[in-house]
Amino acid sequence: MSNDTDVIVVGAGLAGLVATAELIDAGRRVILLDQEPEASLGGQAFWSFGGLFLVDSPLQRRLGIRDSHDLALQDWLGSAGFDREEDLWPRRWAEAYVDFASGEKYAWLREQGVGFFPLVQWAERGGYLATGHGNSVPRFHVTWGTGPAVVEPFVRRVRAGEQRGVVTLRFRHRVTGLTMTNGVVDGVHGEVLEPSSVERGRPSSRVVVSEFTLKTQAVIVTSGGIGGNHELVRRNWPRRLGDPPKQLISGVPDHVDGRMLDVIASSGGHLINSDRMWHYPEGIRNFAPIWSNHAIRILCGPSPLWLDARGQRLPIPLFPGFDTLGALQHILSTGYDYSWFLLNQRIIEREIALSGSEQNPDLTGRSISKTLSRVLPGAPGPVEAFKKHGVDFLVRKTLPELVQEMNALTGEELIEPAELERVIVARDRQITNPFGKDAQVTAIRGARAYLGDRLIRVARPHRLLDPAAGPLIAVRLSILTRKTLGGVETDLSGRVLRAGGRPLPGLFAAGEVAGFGGGGMHGYRALEGAFLGGCLFSGRAAGRAVARNVL
Ligand SMILES: Cc1cc2nc3c(=O)[nH]c(=O)nc-3n(C[C@H](O)[C@H](O)[C@H](O)COP(=O)(O)OP(=O)(O)OC[C@H]3O[C@@H](n4cnc5c(N)ncnc54)[C@H](O)[C@@H]3O)c2cc1C
Repeated sequence: MSNDTDVIVVGAGLAGLVATAELIDAGRRVILLDQEPEASLGGQAFWSFGGLFLVDSPLQRRLGIRDSHDLALQDWLGSAGFDREEDLWPRRWAEAYVDFASGEKYAWLREQGVGFFPLVQWAERGGYLATGHGNSVPRFHVTWGTGPAVVEPFVRRVRAGEQRGVVTLRFRHRVTGLTMTNGVVDGVHGEVLEPSSVERGRPSSRVVVSEFTLKTQAVIVTSGGIGGNHELVRRNWPRRLGDPPKQLISGVPDHVDGRMLDVIASSGGHLINSDRMWHYPEGIRNFAPIWSNHAIRILCGPSPLWLDARGQRLPIPLFPGFDTLGALQHILSTGYDYSWFLLNQRIIEREIALSGSEQNPDLTGRSISKTLSRVLPGAPGPVEAFKKHGVDFLVRKTLPELVQEMNALTGEELIEPAELERVIVARDRQITNPFGKDAQVTAIRGARAYLGDRLIRVARPHRLLDPAAGPLIAVRLSILTRKTLGGVETDLSGRVLRAGGRPLPGLFAAGEVAGFGGGGMHGYRALEGAFLGGCLFSGRAAGRAVARNVL
């Protein structure tokens, strides 16, 4: 049977688009398949906040941040905690990725027209010792135009290839298997789903209308992670974090179903680190959902009190934005799968941001005037909307009233108002001096030494119960699923490996399905912004390697 094309790419998210763009540049013919309708081109990256991990960038330098390759690698390895035999390729990918992020990544993106919001953000602050988890310095560069602007250059390159007739995009094509001849992957087969006119990100019909088989020289799988498939998330749940939460909400669209992982495994590809995942404890229910169980993640500054279901403060250093999985593990150890942020109006105006392109219309729309208004009093519009309409937000003038509402929302009298008041008053006494013993207050002061935090992100330390900073606000936080850190084991060319390390000829993988490279380049914990970056880097590597390998 003759080939239908040089290369087949499965999944038109960011990793698939990058790989395809590279193949086009190298003069290869590509068929790009996706199970979703055309409206969802770009996958998760379109919805993303567009935060990218960059090291020693011109923007960091302008803000007085001294970063370096060595510091970033130290932070990466301290967070990843690689400790398994199968971490061989993940560690190599991590090293190569830090080289990329501190080397050509910035220039490569700028060449393609990608710009950045000038105030670099500080994600995963850590709070442990220098060799432990977290970013020592701010490195989260928000793309000007957020997620859609990260996707844009690659869509442009792929659409240009389509016009030249070298790429065919086939939507509603769901791959269910790989074809092999003499141990070499030489095609895919699957189901054609009925046409769907649903808007971007909404769940689409799974009714099958026909089947297809396509032959090729090489297949690159870029099908994303498992976060939309809660059954799979629970099955792979890492016991070190406690029992899987009874309630999960979804930070990703339904198409993030993880089904291709089984397809790869059943053809002999090796899946590793399936128990490593990156889910957030700061999820709120979207009052205007797009996908099933749609959850939004709060990106929080360091000032709110983080309380467990019984109103106890989370232990140090589990302050908002410091250690995602540390907080998740602690929350699950309480026997409840939710927690609370307790804050006030002054803090919400500075410190509550929402992840996602649609929750940041100022940055997504590249509006300078609207973005500048972030420094003015008042919370951004989408945050105000959640305060008003979100089921998880409670706003009251006094603490007793607020606690009454918190207990009413959960249907259990778990929080004792007098005890919570004692905890908050004790914390508030630490504000009197510009120094003190409360580690969270010290961390807030430390953060404000960074210009970006002082300007737009971290409120001046003040008493939480100061009526002038009110009203008081409580936000109930649930666990939302997002990223898959493990995946298909690959070498630095993106070649899929069999158990034992031999390549499975003809098969490549990139992006989230490959744990963003190697089968888990983040190890146990991530530094943020390296998921999109991982798609860019691994998609590019796989595209270039395949281009070299096909004739
Ligand atoms: C709201 C949100 C905010 C985020 N913010 C950030 C951020 O600021 N920084 C960051 O680094 N990361 C962020 N991320 C994560 C990042 O966007 C994703 O990890 C990344 O985009 C994954 O890209 P991918 O190409 O690997 O997979 P996906 O985007 O999931 O694309 C995979 C594609 O494959 C298709 N597919 C799957 N299975 C099949 C099949 N069997 N047959 C055919 N097609 C199939 C799917 O339909 C999909 O279109 C965010 C994610 C979300 C949802």
